[in-house]
Amino acid sequence: MKVTVIGCAGTFPNAGSACSAYLVEHEGFSLLLDMGNGAVGALQRYAALLAPDAVFLSHLHADHCVDLVAYSYARKYHPEPPGRLPVHGPAGTHERLQLIGNSGRLDDVFEFVDTAAGRTDIGPFAVTLAPAAHPVETYSIRLEAAGRAVVYSGDTGPTPHLVSNATAADLLLCEATWTNPGPADLHLTAAEAGEHAHRAGAGKLLLVHTTPFSTPEVLLEQAAQHYDGKIDIPAAGATYAV
Ligand SMILES: [Zn+2]
Ligand SMILES: [Zn+2]
Repeated sequence: MKVTVIGCAGTFPNAGSACSAYLVEHEGFSLLLDMGNGAVGALQRYAALLAPDAVFLSHLHADHCVDLVAYSYARKYHPEPPGRLPVHGPAGTHERLQLIGNSGRLDDVFEFVDTAAGRTDIGPFAVTLAPAAHPVETYSIRLEAAGRAVVYSGDTGPTPHLVSNATAADLLLCEATWTNPGPADLHLTAAEAGEHAHRAGAGKLLLVHTTPFSTPEVLLEQAAQHYDGKIDIPAAGATYAV
């Protein structure tokens, strides 16, 4: 699998990155995880406008899904319009995006599929969703192909479901929004991201969904206190072979 960080900024875009969007490719199939603010521009920079063959949304907070509205125009008005793109998201995804766009239905461009905890097969990937600890319906997403596993935490507070979904993952993209603990069931600190990676036995940890309010060195140091594998804070455009 090849993982490309299209955007990894937490909560709001920063000077160098769009909000959450990760492209995972295997055997010519591209699965996009989330489509946060600014991701449509970054997708063209780091992959291609029509690259995704399917989209999985971890949840419906704007920083994880809002650019699907802009993306619907890109596909609808493309000179050679592609077929409908499967968009897997929590129940109500279509209605939510339609409200944001305020320009009619989007199901001529997207084929909406409701997500639920459990396993589905999409292209060459086995996809397993596990519930996150977040104020709205949210899932961590595990992708397996060719005996390798990539796991993306989505947004979450501490939860054993993330540990079990990330068990023995070769690469764990884990949110690390905070350096100091905040409200319960919302986000993780970098220390908690490190704890989850350690308990899951993940092979490598990427701290994502970080904000300019955190110092990268502090995030790395906090995570390393609990996890002794390799830790990175990726920049937009970074790629990882898994
Ligand atoms: Zn978020
Ligand atoms: Zn969220």
